[in-house]
Amino acid sequence: MDTIKLAELLFPNVTETAEQVEARYPSRELPEGAVVSRMAPSPTGFIHLGHLVQGLISERMSHQSGGVLFLRIEDTDAKREVVGAVEILIDALKYYGIHFDEGATKDGDSGLYGPYRQRQRADIYHVYAKKLVAEGHAYPCFCTEQELSSMRETQEANKETTGYYGKYAIWRDRSIEDIQAQLDAGNPWVLRFRSEGNIENQFKFDDLVKGKLTVTENNIDHVLLKSDGIPTYHFAHAVDDRLMHTTHVVRGDEWLPSLPFHIQLFKTLGFKLPKYVHIGPLMKMEGTSKRKLSKRKDPELAMTYYKAEGFPVKAVYEYLMTVLNSNFEDWRRANPDIPAEDFKFSPKKLNPAGALFDYAKLTDVSKNVISRMGAEEVYKLLTEWAEEFDAEFAEALKEDADYAKTILAIGRGGKKPRKDIAVWTDAKPYMGFFYDKFFASEGFDEKFDAETIRTALEKFLAAYDKNDDATEWFNKVKAVTSEIGFAADMKEYKANPEAFKGSVADVSNFLRVAVTGKTNSPDLYTVMQILGEKAIERIKNAMEKL
Ligand code: GLU
Repeated sequence: MDTIKLAELLFPNVTETAEQVEARYPSRELPEGAVVSRMAPSPTGFIHLGHLVQGLISERMSHQSGGVLFLRIEDTDAKREVVGAVEILIDALKYYGIHFDEGATKDGDSGLYGPYRQRQRADIYHVYAKKLVAEGHAYPCFCTEQELSSMRETQEANKETTGYYGKYAIWRDRSIEDIQAQLDAGNPWVLRFRSEGNIENQFKFDDLVKGKLTVTENNIDHVLLKSDGIPTYHFAHAVDDRLMHTTHVVRGDEWLPSLPFHIQLFKTLGFKLPKYVHIGPLMKMEGTSKRKLSKRKDPELAMTYYKAEGFPVKAVYEYLMTVLNSNFEDWRRANPDIPAEDFKFSPKKLNPAGALFDYAKLTDVSKNVISRMGAEEVYKLLTEWAEEFDAEFAEALKEDADYAKTILAIGRGGKKPRKDIAVWTDAKPYMGFFYDKFFASEGFDEKFDAETIRTALEKFLAAYDKNDDATEWFNKVKAVTSEIGFAADMKEYKANPEAFKGSVADVSNFLRVAVTGKTNSPDLYTVMQILGEKAIERIKNAMEKL
């Protein structure tokens, strides 16, 4: 077979050579050991946690090594593409703080190694396709859908491996005349890879997460170009990662079965194989067994979920670092106050089986992350969240920003900060009582009669002075306690509860319910300081209602 002639026949319009293309994509000037990695999502409209995990890992590996992270849109499957999906994708990644040095943006492409959208790279793939044909590594296949499906049926009936290989690869060795006749008839064709692999042969491969793998050679003549001339993922990623000088491919381990073919393809094309980081799927417990997170069953797989639930980006980030890396939690314990980005990330510490998603853990991590933020940051993030999900609350927060920040500053800083907020939806129940429109009373403990409570509140009001410090304030609460026959000293009360009508804890609770409407609130002295006159009004109102 005259393969050069075949190449001309199939690609008459391709005049550029691979060498010429490569001259347009020169090596990157980067320090030794710098990782060039990419996110290469397909714009299907559904952005999930798997994207974020992959993005975080590539981002860490690139940026921690002084390398480059770029965004490439893998839009070769036009059928699955959703209008606007690229923009949604870019926004979501940006929201989660994944910064790209180059690639697709909302205003076109930025960077010297583009275009960064595969459909715009068709001409480039054709140069390599022509080269493969000329070298005898690829050939056209004119099989119809029907032929392929009846082939599959035969293989299934014979319990053989399905696919285009061996005697089933009926176009592999056809004459140039047969091919010419099909082309003349205008019949559609796909370009197939001519595999020289043998499934009897195995070889070793080192994956940065999975470790040493034993891989079986590929013997299938996979499709490189579809009948519309658009490449398959396999072919496109090989060409792109070569030209864009990707050193590390971080992707889901659902691609592992294709790896033998990819290795073969890179080799045949004369490309250096990048390092592969195959990450396990996100799992969750169902009863006592683990299963993959599923788009259909698990809302937490969607990236939009976290925003709506009110998890700050930092918390999701920190959580993912915690469940992905076996050494992150220890590092965090030793370094509670430094940014998560300072953690020295290594793919070797990733769990090869995949991370286990756990909502309780996420909540816990989020609580810690928010507790370490300053009031200013909490205010900003909470307000942004409320603007989208709770307009009434947002309005209250913005009406008097200083007031809101003073509230949010309660119990922050220091070694043991308060941990009342895990998600922004917790904020209103926690602090809403500071605003009259969100104030609602749970009511007093029914164990005590109205008269006792009223007397306690009355006596407290008579003694209250806003200028008292916390100790003076509490002494006054204790004085009221004793006056109404309750125990001011908790030890004394516990030793002999029958001797008293109640304790200082009960009196504090009368006050707390009157002022905040709840039995659980931040430090009441501080609350009253912030509320000022309003606290007194609330106590009076409560007395009236008793
Ligand atoms: N477009 C592929 C996907 O969305 C990307 C795989 C890769 O990163 O190479 O799964």
